[in-house]
Amino acid sequence: MLPSHLYVHVPFCARRCSYCDFSIAVRRIVPISDYTDGIRKELTALARWAEASPSSWTLNTVYLGGGTPSSLGGEGVRRLLEIIASFAQIAPGAELTIEANPDDVTPDAIDAWAAAGINRLSLGAQTFDDAVLAWMHRTHDARQIGDAVRAARSGGLANISLDLIFALPPEIPRAWTRDLDEALALSPEHISLYGLTVEPKTPLHRWVTAGRFSLAAEDRYADEFLEAHERMTGAGFAHYEVSNFAKPGRESRHNSAYWSGTSYIGIGPAAHSFDGARRRWNIKPYADWLATLCRGGSVIAGEEVLDAESVTSERIYLGLRTEAGYRAGASDRAAAERWARAGWAVIDGDLVRLSAEGWLRLDSLAAGLTGL
Ligand code: SF4
Repeated sequence: MLPSHLYVHVPFCARRCSYCDFSIAVRRIVPISDYTDGIRKELTALARWAEASPSSWTLNTVYLGGGTPSSLGGEGVRRLLEIIASFAQIAPGAELTIEANPDDVTPDAIDAWAAAGINRLSLGAQTFDDAVLAWMHRTHDARQIGDAVRAARSGGLANISLDLIFALPPEIPRAWTRDLDEALALSPEHISLYGLTVEPKTPLHRWVTAGRFSLAAEDRYADEFLEAHERMTGAGFAHYEVSNFAKPGRESRHNSAYWSGTSYIGIGPAAHSFDGARRRWNIKPYADWLATLCRGGSVIAGEEVLDAESVTSERIYLGLRTEAGYRAGASDRAAAERWARAGWAVIDGDLVRLSAEGWLRLDSLAAGLTGL
């Protein structure tokens, strides 16, 4: 039986953002036919392997991520979802998300996406400062973020998430408070935060290595994270996962499946899948992924079977990163009580939920538990 959560990686971007090390294919003209034919071939192989048919495979969430899925435009997304729907039933009320760059969000695109079944828009805003957007090598300006949100709402796509990046280098004159104001003024249903990291082989890495920019200090990271927590929760959002805020009932159902350890399937170059015990990943480069499919080969590049120790540490980490919390065993009780005294966690019976202060220490706190 195939999982009810499907991730589709759409690798195309107009250019690479200065901080990004994702698996992307930079294309000025997006090869929609080649890509969607590749997806059809991958789904054909998958359905054959799993002996699945549309009557036996139901999807509760579909997430078009990237890359820049919105670069497929209205027609490309329509074609992609039509292909998916020929292999699986889309459940009534399913969550269908598209990640979009603001400059791709036109009234025509919104009409086509909504008609194809998309009902959630995840918009890469990052900041509302034009100079900072240019530094990030983003393809849009601040005005286009608001235009995109308004176009989406008037086209009936009323479940909108905004991505914001915080903890920029101190050399960047970025006003985080103003960015939070601007984001909240657009009344999104959901906000995702990303702390900037410096990844190898990115322009940002070169700039940092050359001494032109430096990393945000830990206290700046903490101050901005905690300010976001205060502002968003004060505006009626639940801080339901370390990096995610939602208005009531607007949590990402797709990402929540990842965080609860549910199985999911990923297709497209570099996509990952998880069946509850084993994690698999696809060939990363777009051209290799497509060529492999065209000659009838398998696009699975590797897999790992989680051993007992990895299963335990994933259970701890996933529990602690969400507001659902982690069910602590007897051997973890003393640590949890220490965290509660420090203001890093709240204990409710045997459930331990990290506070925003605790989430700042998520990795080290998770590493200190035994899971017993
Ligand atoms: S749009 Fe997204 S995936 Fe593409 S380069 Fe920028 S950050 Fe990376």
